[in-house]
Amino acid sequence: MTETAAAGQRGDRGNLDKVNAAIAPLIDPFQRQISYLRVSVTDRCDFRCVYCMSEDMTFLPKREVLSLEELDRLCSAFVGLGVRKLRMTGGDPLVRRDIMWLFRRLSRHLDSGALEELTLTTNGSQLGRFSQDLAAMGVKRVNVSIDTLDPDKFAAITRWGRFEQVMEGIAAAKAAGLAVKINAVALKGVNDDEVHKLVQWCGDEGFDLTFIEVMPMGDIGGETRLDQYWPLSMLRGELESRWTLEDIDYKTGGPARYARCRETGGRIGFITPLTHNFCESCNRVRLTCTGTLYMCLGQEDAADLRAPLRDSDDDAVLEAAIRDAISRKPKGHDFIIDRRRQQGVSSRHMSVTGG
Ligand code: SAM
Ligand code: SF4
Repeated sequence: MTETAAAGQRGDRGNLDKVNAAIAPLIDPFQRQISYLRVSVTDRCDFRCVYCMSEDMTFLPKREVLSLEELDRLCSAFVGLGVRKLRMTGGDPLVRRDIMWLFRRLSRHLDSGALEELTLTTNGSQLGRFSQDLAAMGVKRVNVSIDTLDPDKFAAITRWGRFEQVMEGIAAAKAAGLAVKINAVALKGVNDDEVHKLVQWCGDEGFDLTFIEVMPMGDIGGETRLDQYWPLSMLRGELESRWTLEDIDYKTGGPARYARCRETGGRIGFITPLTHNFCESCNRVRLTCTGTLYMCLGQEDAADLRAPLRDSDDDAVLEAAIRDAISRKPKGHDFIIDRRRQQGVSSRHMSVTGG
């Protein structure tokens, strides 16, 4: 007999409510089921990509950041509420000390079948060290962000990144059996002459490739995002001058629209948050490393989950706070890049919400 049936047979109303609450999935006001949680496990990074951070970033004091134990408890609460996919991001998730402890802990949900996928997005610098461990913990796929195959440009974009180290990391991931997806931010005047090379390389290596439109996030100083903005409709046009792209119905639970490149056989994704609205199928929420839950990447409304997490050992309190937050998930976002508001609508850095 299920716990629910048992509580029902006993006429145990209070318990029944509790059991039902515990198993009811997270559904937002627009009937979207929340099944995907992205978790920024740190705001720190060993790179300083020009579109993401200023060079002299100030990072959060340690007490503000959730401990690994707290992250485990919070992620596990989401899994208990029906989240099927967890993506660790940052900052760079692999620069957080003892991060493998968190992957190991969370992998128990893969073993139990509660979780379908545990994965991460990284700049790749630490994959040489960690790919084998990640594969051993049930991680099957990894997203690696690299916008260029030119070592000098790579140094200019990431400021502190070492191209060779990332290439070695990607090779280690492949050798460990991880499926690699490359994320490249489309930057006018920076990597617009390299998109064909990226397609060829990913095709040769067997990697999926996703292009991301640059988004107006946070104050990064220096050049404006408007100058770098390159709509993916134009990028796609450029690709089609050389490759045959056929739209496919491939879904990874993310907002990318995919096409198959006939010549390489590889998949190419396009994430166009500014020019295309994908909100109606949004199944995700984002947790920062301080325990703030953002219900939408493009909106400021957020819920503090750190207080209920730290105030009480009772997971019911935490679950109630999560449900309350989901009940406020907005219908869509309001990103705007125009000449009057070049900083964009969001003052948050991508390294806070994890992209
Ligand atoms: N450090 C990891 C990495 O670079 O993959 C994970 C965090 S990073 C914030 C996640 C993704 O956001 C990366 O693919 C990065 O290129 C992208 N990103 C950062 N700032 C962005 C921006 N302003 N517009 C679009 N994508 C951005
Ligand atoms: Fe670090 Fe990723 Fe931001 Fe680059 S995009 S600075 S690698 S967090």
